Amino acid sequence: MHQNKPMQAPVFSATILGSSAATPTSTRNPSAILLNMDYKYYLVDCGEGTQIQLRRMHIKLQKINHVFISHLHGDHFFGVIGLISTMHLMGRDKELHLFGPPRLEEIVQLQLEASLTELVYPLVFHPTQAGKEEVIYESDIHFVKSFPLEHRIETTGFIFGEKPRRRKIDKAFLLKEDVPVPWMMRIKDGADYVSPSGVVYPNAEITKQPPAPRTFAYCSDTRYSPDVVQYVQGVDLLYHEATFMEELKEAAREKYHSTAAQAALTAKQAGAKHLLLGHFSARYKKLDGILGEAKAVFENTSLAKEGEVTEV
Ligand SMILES: [Zn+2]
Ligand SMILES: [Zn+2]
Repeated sequence: MHQNKPMQAPVFSATILGSSAATPTSTRNPSAILLNMDYKYYLVDCGEGTQIQLRRMHIKLQKINHVFISHLHGDHFFGVIGLISTMHLMGRDKELHLFGPPRLEEIVQLQLEASLTELVYPLVFHPTQAGKEEVIYESDIHFVKSFPLEHRIETTGFIFGEKPRRRKIDKAFLLKEDVPVPWMMRIKDGADYVSPSGVVYPNAEITKQPPAPRTFAYCSDTRYSPDVVQYVQGVDLLYHEATFMEELKEAAREKYHSTAAQAALTAKQAGAKHLLLGHFSARYKKLDGILGEAKAVFENTSLAKEGEVTEV
């Protein structure tokens, strides 16, 4: 009796475009991450200069069809109008879906009107709500949820997830056996196959196990709260802001930001597999202190760095 090898998991990675907090530095850009989920590209936040970062990294702008903005602090959305405009000048015809706080639509409309720009492609706006967790996007294979963060203005985090996949029927078996169509779905859902002559084929022998669905969570900007922890339970990769270190814990609380240790505590309490820290204050030239502080609480931590790709 043989067990089929599991199917290979599709690509699911996060490319850091910007890792800086409010003011950019000569080496760190404002917040933006590009997710590649099975060659669907989702842009998460779009700080100033994001389109230039995409160019530097040889990522084609027009591949992006969905942009998600967490809140209306400039370091998270000042790049939106630039990206929209360049897509227009390049003659885009596909829809662009923009998700974000309701007033983002007004801001973008005003910028377009003032420059007498009539976009050559449809821009579809989807307002988010900061008060509750909700599914804001779904395809056959992916979903995106927004959830409330604790920041000075209304802010949402996002969960990007893969939907569970069906089992895959072994090609060799399909060539050998003439499986009637109605059986196909049942086998993919886990049923054993019974041939017309009564032979039973156990499901594990004729199908491949699908890869386990993975999730990526985005938490920027927020101060530490157990209420945030509940929304990111069990994620594979947690991106979390770490604006300050513990020495500035009070400032972090007042400014509605997190310390590196607090980001690590969220990862630990949520049972995340991997923590990626970002949104670093310009005061920290070197980031070893931030990393060390987080690792003391949650070992599997790394630092966001412009141009680096992390597998989910
Ligand atoms: Zn910020
Ligand atoms: Zn902010």
